[in-house]
Amino acid sequence: MKIALIAHDKKKEDLIQITQKYEAILNQHELFATGTTGTKIMERTKLSIHCFKSGPLGGDQQIGAKVSEGEMDMIIFLRDPLTAQPHEPDVNALIRLSDVYEVPLATNKSTAILLFKELQNLAEN
Ligand code: PGA
Repeated sequence: MKIALIAHDKKKEDLIQITQKYEAILNQHELFATGTTGTKIMERTKLSIHCFKSGPLGGDQQIGAKVSEGEMDMIIFLRDPLTAQPHEPDVNALIRLSDVYEVPLATNKSTAILLFKELQNLAEN
């Protein structure tokens, strides 16, 4: 599967921790990320990730373009609901497109863990 990983600044540590925990299963998939998120995950895991631009500089839109082309199968987007984001329209656009194309999208850690567990189930069965 093609999986996109994105986290707002205050959620990056959460995303790093769950990618470390599920590293073995994520390693079996093709990973994409916004620039800073992907760089930080690669610093702390052995995962190989294709990094787009940083989110505020267009990275969310680049991932949205992949969704619209049928080129993304899952999105983990740990949003910070308590901090205003300069690129809020891009964030909403990505979430909207994932609904248009029915791409599974997790916006918090609990849902992300459920999706990663499902990846494990799929690999085992
Ligand atoms: P970043 O972008 O990974 O480059 O920080 C994430 C975002 O804020 O959308």
